[in-house]
Amino acid sequence: MTTITSEIQAEDSAYYLHPFTDHKSLAGKGARIITKADGLYIWDSEGEKIFDAMSGLWCVNIGYGRQELVDAATKQMQELPYYNSFFQTTNVPAVKLAKRIVGLAGDNYSHVFFSSSGSESNDTNIRMVRHYWATLGQPERKVIISRNNAYHGSTMAGASLGGMGYMHAQGGLPIPDIAHIEQPYHYGLDHAKDKDAFGIEAAGWLEKKILEIGADKVAAFIGEPIQGAGGVIIPPKTYWPEIQRICDKYGILLICDEVICGFGRLGTWFGSQLLGAKPDLMTFAKGVTSGYLPLGGVVVGKRVADVLINQGGDFNHGYTYSGHPVACAVALANIDILEHEGLVDRVRQETGPYLAERYAELSHHPLVGGAETCGLMAGFMLMKDKQAHITFDETLEVGMICRNHCFANGLIMRAVGDRMIIAPPLMISKAQIDDMMKLIYHCLDATLDELETLGYMESKQLKVNAA
Ligand SMILES: *Cc1c(COP(=O)(O)O)cnc(C)c1O
Repeated sequence: MTTITSEIQAEDSAYYLHPFTDHKSLAGKGARIITKADGLYIWDSEGEKIFDAMSGLWCVNIGYGRQELVDAATKQMQELPYYNSFFQTTNVPAVKLAKRIVGLAGDNYSHVFFSSSGSESNDTNIRMVRHYWATLGQPERKVIISRNNAYHGSTMAGASLGGMGYMHAQGGLPIPDIAHIEQPYHYGLDHAKDKDAFGIEAAGWLEKKILEIGADKVAAFIGEPIQGAGGVIIPPKTYWPEIQRICDKYGILLICDEVICGFGRLGTWFGSQLLGAKPDLMTFAKGVTSGYLPLGGVVVGKRVADVLINQGGDFNHGYTYSGHPVACAVALANIDILEHEGLVDRVRQETGPYLAERYAELSHHPLVGGAETCGLMAGFMLMKDKQAHITFDETLEVGMICRNHCFANGLIMRAVGDRMIIAPPLMISKAQIDDMMKLIYHCLDATLDELETLGYMESKQLKVNAA
C-alpha cells in the first residue's frame, strides 16, 4: 500500500464520520479512497480501476467526466454563483429548469419546487400534501401510507416514510401519522402465485390500510416506482395501475418517489410513465444532475398546484438552496446530454432489452434466483437451493461475501441482504454490458467456490461457463 493511501485512511478514520457506517469496523480495514473517474470507471488511490455498475449511488446517469457540466458550472459561478428565491426574486437557470422538467413530466404537471436532495424533497412532500388538505378544509387528512423496505431518504421525515426497520430503530422513528403496508415483492413473498394476480393482491393491501385508518384521514400514498435501496424490487405490471385506481377511488394523493427511476433509468423520463401511474407529486434528485452537484425537488401536478397557488396563501417552507443557480445550470446541461445523445430512448430500445436478455441467461447460474431487470436496474437473489426456493441463513451474510468478491475483482455491485443489485450509467453500450456480465459471472463463480469451501451449499453443483 502506498504512503498516501495509509495517510489518508488514518485521517479519514480520525476526522470523517461516514454515512451508514460502523466506524469501529471500518477503522480496522481502512476506507478505499476513490481518486478519479471517467465514463463507467472509477479509480482508487492504489491505481486500481473499478467498473461502477451502481452509477455512484444510482445517480451518475450520463457517466463520469463530462466537460459540458464542468463548463456549465464554471460559467454560472462566474455570472451568478448564488441567489435565493425567497423574497420575490428568481434566477434564470431555476426558471429554465422548472419549465424543462414540467415539459418532460407531461400534461398532468405545472410546477417544480426545488431542494438539494431526495430526503429534503420528501420532507417537502409531507408539508405540501398536508397544507393542500388543510387548505381544502380537511386538516384531519394527515396520514401518509408508505411500504415496508421502501427508501425515501434519511432525514427524520424521509426515514419515517421509508420502511427500513434498522433505521426506525434509532432516533425514535417513525414520526406520527405515517403508516406502512407490505411491499410488492413477488419472488420473496409469494413466488408460487401467478405474478399478475399477486400484483393486484399487493395493491389491495393499500385499500385495506385506507379502510382501516379511515379514508378521511389519509392524505397520500408514496412509493418508488421500483424500490431501489430495498433491493431492486420490480412490481408485477398489474400493480401500479391498481394502486392508481385505489388512490382515485378514495381521492387520496399519489406521490411517486422518482429519485432513482427519474431521468431515464427505466427508458422513460420518469418511471411512473412506464409503469402506468399518474402521480400528483414526483420526487426527484440524483439523476437530475447525474450527481455532479446536489439538487432535488418535487414536480407538482395541476391538482395540487392549483390549490396551492390559488387558495393556499403563503407556503411556509423552503430551503436556502432551493433553485440554486449553479446546480440548476448543471442539471440543464445534463438534460441536454440525455436528450442530444438519445440516452433515454437507447435504454428503452436497446440497452435495457439487452441487459434483460443477459440477465435471463444469468438465471442458469446455480446461485442465481429471481433475476429481473427493468431498464437499467437489475437484481437477483443468491439462493441456497433455487429449485426448492431455499434462501441462505441471513446470519451467514452471503450477500457480503459476494460483494467482497466484486470489490476485489474491480466491480461495484451492491448487496442488499442476499440480493445483488446493479444500476449502471445510462451511457453503457452493449459491448460494455458484456464486459460487466463477464465480471458478474467471475464474481459469482468465486462466491460459489467460497460457499462450497465454507460448507454453506448442500452439494457441489455444476458451474455454468462464463461465456
Ligand atoms: C437516494 C434516495 C432518496 C434520498 O435522496 P438523498 O439525496 O440521499 O437525500 C430518496 N428516495 C429514493 C427513492 C432514493 O433512492
